[in-house]
Amino acid sequence: MNSLSTITKLAGGWLQLKVPVPFSLRWVNSYLLPEKSGWTVIDPGLRSAETEAFWEAALLEAGIAWTSIERIVLTHHHPDHYGLAGWFQEKTGAPVYLSETGRRSALWMWGENETSSGELLAAFAAHGMPAEREEGMKGHLRNVIGQVLPHPRDVRPLPEPGETFEMAGTVWTLIGGEGHAPGHRSFYQPDLRRLICGDQVLPDITPNIGWMPGTDPDPLGSYLASLRAMLPLEADLAFPGHRDPFGELRTRIGEILAHHDERLDRMVSLLAEWGPMTAYETAGRLFRAKVMDDSHQLRFAMAETIAHLERLVLEDRAVRREETGADGKPVIRYGPAVPV
Ligand SMILES: [Zn+2]
Repeated sequence: MNSLSTITKLAGGWLQLKVPVPFSLRWVNSYLLPEKSGWTVIDPGLRSAETEAFWEAALLEAGIAWTSIERIVLTHHHPDHYGLAGWFQEKTGAPVYLSETGRRSALWMWGENETSSGELLAAFAAHGMPAEREEGMKGHLRNVIGQVLPHPRDVRPLPEPGETFEMAGTVWTLIGGEGHAPGHRSFYQPDLRRLICGDQVLPDITPNIGWMPGTDPDPLGSYLASLRAMLPLEADLAFPGHRDPFGELRTRIGEILAHHDERLDRMVSLLAEWGPMTAYETAGRLFRAKVMDDSHQLRFAMAETIAHLERLVLEDRAVRREETGADGKPVIRYGPAVPV
């Protein structure tokens, strides 16, 4: 691969680097923002032999020395954004900036004494994932840990939403975002009319709604509220975590809101048609077999489905029943609000 094609020069001296990811998202955008005497790196990517080689080649090509990287800023803690932060810190000595919630989430999910994978497997089992899928899901979760180590040591908290942060010689306002990742931060500059939006708003694809046990019980509700709160932003260009920078932010937000409305309606129809189902069964009727058969994609399909079903319960458009399965373990089924 010719790495030249992966560096795009943007207005203001910014660079967009398409860092490879080993799944269907194709690449994650890392943005390099020029500072007085160095660079800020936003979202370096996940860690693999391929991404390390990518960065070595890309910085060489761009004429940027490792030592001129002054800081690493993360929009959120997901592996494809956070994963290389520790490696970058080792190479540069630069501090990593991440929301405090994001930092805690990363350690809860992939820290030395993490408990999240056991909790997730138990929750997915209760939501109907068959026992024979457990090994594959465990393998997927173990695989992720290798993509995020080492954890960065010097992590400084990003300011709270509404507060400001200086980058690229100007002052940015932090925009909070929930539902995709706890403590997600976007950066808005009203004079430049630019928004660095991480995964909160993406063109062409809809951000995954990140349901996890023991965290936000209504991530879809939180996500939709965060999106609506972004509608007043006056941005001519948005710089997303995946795909390419795009205009028409407000139009895109409207499309994503409509997508979730449609999906909620579709789930109401499915429950009416099929009667009470687990989230796994519901996902099987929503997603293609290719998605359901792959542990990585199944995880996101399950999270997405549970998030939508939980929202329907809160809207009184579905009911949740917790029962005991034949094996004596809990099983959660969702049914239509009006029993059929
Ligand atoms: Zn993400």
